[in-house]
Amino acid sequence: MSETKEAWKEKFAEFAKYGPKLDRAIDTVLAGGVKESRFLPSGRKVTSVVGRLGDEFIDPEKPYCSCSNFFFRVLGGREGTCYHLLSHKIAAKTGKIDVVEFSDEEYGPYLVATIRDVFEVLRKSST
Ligand SMILES: [Zn+2]
Repeated sequence: MSETKEAWKEKFAEFAKYGPKLDRAIDTVLAGGVKESRFLPSGRKVTSVVGRLGDEFIDPEKPYCSCSNFFFRVLGGREGTCYHLLSHKIAAKTGKIDVVEFSDEEYGPYLVATIRDVFEVLRKSST
């Protein structure tokens, strides 16, 4: 385990209650897995987190995540968060969000690609 990871686990001790999710979230952030796509000039943004099976899309303000863990366990009230949303929290606090800028004209094609990814992940997770 790297020194950074150990230090981060101490720094984010408030999230230790999430157990192994904290480990996964730290690994994800360290690998640059939290991405924010900004569309200009509207300033609209889409946040995604690289997951085990592909990208998951999140809305940290709601909060919402497209993963099945969020759908079944978090919305079902059994768990407080999924590791994608936890990754975003940690990335926001450490300034590790990878921001990519697009023009507003690219929003449509971007969404199409995004929805394909979400379906692909769903398909893989149901087999
Ligand atoms: Zn999730």
